[in-house]
Amino acid sequence: MEKLVQGYVIRVSPYQENDCIITLLLKDSGDFLSFKARGILKSTSKNAPSCQLYTLGEYLLDYKNDNGNNVLKTGVILDRITDIYEKMEINLVLGLVCEGILKIDDGMDSQERLDLYGGIYDLLKIKTNYGTMILVILKYFMLYCGVLLEADGCVECGRKNHLVDVSYQAGGYLCYDCNHHLDPKRNELYLKNYRYVIKAELNNINDFEVPATVATTLINEFFEYLENSAGLRLKSRAVIGKIF
Ligand SMILES: [Zn+2]
Repeated sequence: MEKLVQGYVIRVSPYQENDCIITLLLKDSGDFLSFKARGILKSTSKNAPSCQLYTLGEYLLDYKNDNGNNVLKTGVILDRITDIYEKMEINLVLGLVCEGILKIDDGMDSQERLDLYGGIYDLLKIKTNYGTMILVILKYFMLYCGVLLEADGCVECGRKNHLVDVSYQAGGYLCYDCNHHLDPKRNELYLKNYRYVIKAELNNINDFEVPATVATTLINEFFEYLENSAGLRLKSRAVIGKIF
C-alpha cells in the first residue's frame, strides 16, 4: 500500500549505516509523521536531497511491507529556503522551532504547529533580523507551555505607569513601588523591547527590530525562564548563545 504526503522535514535521525528516520510536519494537517529512508546517506542516493533538514517535500511511502512502518520509495523537493546552506542563522532559527515543537509536543495542537513553523519558514524568505525572530519564537514557546510573561502592567499591582523592572520570578513588569524603590536594573530600551516581543504576533514581526544588545540579554533570559518555569530545556540554547 502506498500513500503520498507533503511535509516539512523537521528531524533526521540516522539509525543504521546508511539509513535515516525522517520526521515530517505534514503540510495539510500539522501532524507528525515518520518514515524510514533507506540508503540516503550514500552519495548515490536519489532521495537524499528531498530528505535534507528543513526541506518541504512530497514523499511516496510504502507502509505495508515493513511491519506497517512507513518506508520511503521516492521523494521530491517542493520548496527550500534559498540561503539555507550559506546562512547559519537560518539553520539556527529553524532548528530552534523544530526542537521546540517536538519537545512541547501535545502542548501545541496541529494548527498551532503549522502556524508557527510555516509562519517562520515564510518569514525567513524575507526577514533578516534573526535575533528578533528567535525572541518571538521563544515567546510562543512560553505561550504553549502555559507560562507566557505579562506585559500589560505591573504584575503585582496592575498599574500601567512607573514600570521600572521585569521580574521573571514574578512573571512580568514591576512598578517602582512593587520593586521596593530599588534602583531599576533595566533601562527604557529593555523595557520597551520586552513589551514588543511579548506582544508580538507572527504577522507583525516586521514592525519592530530589537537592538542587538537588548536581544542578547532577552534571549538568554527567555531560555533561562523556559527552563526554570516550564522545564523546557533546549539544546539550541548553547549554539544560539554563541552567535547572539
Ligand atoms: Zn506594582
